[in-house]
Amino acid sequence: MPDAAENPVSPEMLDRLAEAAVRVGLNLQPGQDLVLTAPVAALPLVRRVAAAAYRAGAGVVTPILADDEVTLARYRHAADDSFDRAPGWLYDGMAAAFGRNAARMAIVGDDPMLLAGEDPGKVARAGKANALAYKPALAKIAEFDINWTIAACPTPGWAARVFPNLPPDQALARLAEAIFAASRVTGDDPVADWTAHNAALKARTGWLNDRRFAALHFTGPGCDLTVGLADGHEWHGGASQAKNGVTCNPNIPTEEVFTTPHAHRVEGSVRATKPLAHQGSLIEGIEVRFESGRIVEARAERGEAVLQKLLDSDEGARRLGEVALVPHSSPIAQAGVLFLNTLFDENAACHIALGQCYSGCFVGGADLTPDQIAERGGNSSIIHVDWMIGGPGTDIDGIAADGSRVPVFRGGEWA
Ligand code: ZN
Ligand code: ZN
Repeated sequence: MPDAAENPVSPEMLDRLAEAAVRVGLNLQPGQDLVLTAPVAALPLVRRVAAAAYRAGAGVVTPILADDEVTLARYRHAADDSFDRAPGWLYDGMAAAFGRNAARMAIVGDDPMLLAGEDPGKVARAGKANALAYKPALAKIAEFDINWTIAACPTPGWAARVFPNLPPDQALARLAEAIFAASRVTGDDPVADWTAHNAALKARTGWLNDRRFAALHFTGPGCDLTVGLADGHEWHGGASQAKNGVTCNPNIPTEEVFTTPHAHRVEGSVRATKPLAHQGSLIEGIEVRFESGRIVEARAERGEAVLQKLLDSDEGARRLGEVALVPHSSPIAQAGVLFLNTLFDENAACHIALGQCYSGCFVGGADLTPDQIAERGGNSSIIHVDWMIGGPGTDIDGIAADGSRVPVFRGGEWA
């Protein structure tokens, strides 16, 4: 029997996760190339994903790896103007690959607080330069040209942040268990479990799309927020079809149904219900007030400088690009773990995202031009940052075009 202290992450579960990421997450097609980004610490999963991809008939799998120590070396030693630069050549290459129908997988597993001790100005500049350079590649993801997915690998650096009071091997084992459970790969047949989960999410989006609400009114502790929905918005959740015809699950895990708010029709105040881990910093106690869709007041108990820099990224950074509904009974919420990673934490609570909208969240969105998306109320920005506003006390009313109200959530659950 393997000693848990020597191998806190089950190789068998990593194999299942790799298989699910390729078959359910990407639905990789025979002959399709795969561009894979990951931290070096996630190599055990990267190698298994490559094997699963080639078993599924992948053309060429190209991993692009980042390393925490290399990232820190920049902050310690680079000249000041380094922080306004980004590897645009690499992102142009990724965009070219997506243009030729390569699939995209991102494996997350970085230390979420890696940059917490660094100069927030430099972190923001580097983040902005990176976001600008990445835009051509991101556009192909945001417009859903190709099948893509994000999955997570348990890593020691991440585990130490999530379970700071446990010895390293126990922390890693706990994080691994939580990731495998949330990613729905612990059952006998993960593919069948995902099929059932996708069907349940589809029933929710079907109901919301039939209602065609003009707005959602959120109330709860510290929250009185009316989120107008974009004209011709469409709800999505779980599996979706990319423009290349492949149905994929863009996030593993996923518990949300989401759509596009109207960039100019959001009113009221809201307080974050969970801390936001953003670019290596923790922003806690966010409170904002919206007028005509724009954040006109913002503060945070901790990390306020990072929040303000984020809001100043560009004009669209103060407006919403996503609203998402997640019941408090979601397995990730019930696990009670703050993962410090959006892929997980956004699936534990209702949330909103500042910045770029998904053009796919419109009826006929695939054929809309950027101008048509803007006319319907879709926001555009170089950022897309989700933060959590829901909890056990969240009530939501759907407001129809004639002003009538329908309960959508009561006490954090579907009404
Ligand atoms: Zn979301
Ligand atoms: Zn989002």
